[in-house]
Amino acid sequence: MRTIIEPFRIKMTEPLKITTAEHRQRALEAAHHNVFLLAAEDCCIDLLTDSGTGAMSAQQWAAMMLGDESYAGSRSWKKFEAAVHEITGIEYVFPTHQGRAAEGILAECILSPGDVIPNNSHFDTTRANIEYVGGIALNLPCAEAFETGVPAPFKGNMDVEALRRAIAEHGKEKIPFAMITVTNNTGGGQPVSMANIREVKAVLEEHDIPLIIDACRYAENAYFIRQREAGYENSSLLEIVQEMFSLADGATMSCKKDGLANIGGFLVCRNSEWAGRFRNLLILREGFPTYGGLAGRDLEAIAVGLMEALDYDYQVYRHATVEYMVERLVKLDIPMVQPAGGHAVFLDARKMLPHVPQLEYPGIGVVNALYLEGGVRAVELGSVMFGHFDDEGREQPSPLELVRLAFPRRVYTQSHFDYLIEVIEEVWRNRDAIGGHRIVAGPKLLRHFTCHFEQMG
Ligand SMILES: *Cc1c(COP(=O)(O)O)cnc(C)c1O
Repeated sequence: MRTIIEPFRIKMTEPLKITTAEHRQRALEAAHHNVFLLAAEDCCIDLLTDSGTGAMSAQQWAAMMLGDESYAGSRSWKKFEAAVHEITGIEYVFPTHQGRAAEGILAECILSPGDVIPNNSHFDTTRANIEYVGGIALNLPCAEAFETGVPAPFKGNMDVEALRRAIAEHGKEKIPFAMITVTNNTGGGQPVSMANIREVKAVLEEHDIPLIIDACRYAENAYFIRQREAGYENSSLLEIVQEMFSLADGATMSCKKDGLANIGGFLVCRNSEWAGRFRNLLILREGFPTYGGLAGRDLEAIAVGLMEALDYDYQVYRHATVEYMVERLVKLDIPMVQPAGGHAVFLDARKMLPHVPQLEYPGIGVVNALYLEGGVRAVELGSVMFGHFDDEGREQPSPLELVRLAFPRRVYTQSHFDYLIEVIEEVWRNRDAIGGHRIVAGPKLLRHFTCHFEQMG
């Protein structure tokens, strides 16, 4: 087979700053050992997130020039609404400035204190929005999700039996809706099968509980279904996502992911009564219902991007990049989540640094070493991001200590990825020298963004 190439060429460049080890050491200290507090300029390969960091296509830039900035009922809104309708088939569409705004409106309008929201795995902002209004965010990943080294085709699935038990335990009155996140970002960017979504929907339907899809990576998930699930080999990605959304009563979306845009999101639902509540809060928080938190030009770029994400050749290349990375890192015996996820590679920091206790945050040790070694910015998805405090106020670790290297869409080329492999290999070779960290300042909610660390020992 021939090399799978980037299915685009470059007509605008942006310089990367090449830094020295001393410069990076000083920068990390000034950032209190938290890479979120670094200046982006001081990062060479920035893999902090795939959110809003993608490169737009010529078609998207051209569409932006057609942006209709009318306050109400703009042409751009019509295009946005039509694209969302085509993909989801869901009637009521609310544009928001990003995914968390959609989650916030959903949670504030529908949840009461003490309500329980099951999900395969809540993303951090989803969980924070639910907890902020007094709800309980319940993660019900399938058993395979915790076996990071064991490949399985749909490790993002929800544990359907656990869902049944949760409904029996809490009662449907306490569960105003359930969610399923595609792909399962928290669980390693792993896909959810159509069969699992169908089964989850069937269980929820028995109890009249609506299903909300956290759809951020709907297109990447569709590609996995086409590659891995029997019966979808000949379906287009659009057909697959249409079938998926036909099982949903609503969805939240961050267009900074598979919207291939730098900002934006939406909330959709079928229930007209919910729609009325969403509309009122949208006007208060985001803006008039035909623009939400977005400029007309953003609506244009998203309308184009949502469809471009479903381009098969684009997804082939996108997944080839992730697989290329995983294959090479596995060959070096570096512990990581297998098989490859959709938008990132996930190193298993707990297995990389068995000498660092979980509450000394092995993920932070790996993240900071990657930066010092090669100016690579990654993110911890472990006890700093997902740990919580029990009723006695004792800190509880997260089940997994992962380090995510998320790949911006259409931004980096093969040589950037080869450089990245060299940096990770060097960190792996020097792993015994990496120690623990403690948090010396920071908030309790979403603490990973702003907290300060100190090296221990
Ligand atoms: C990014 C993300 C969100 C939140 O979207 P923002 O646009 O960052 O607010 C929610 N869920 C998942 C799965 C995500 O990846």
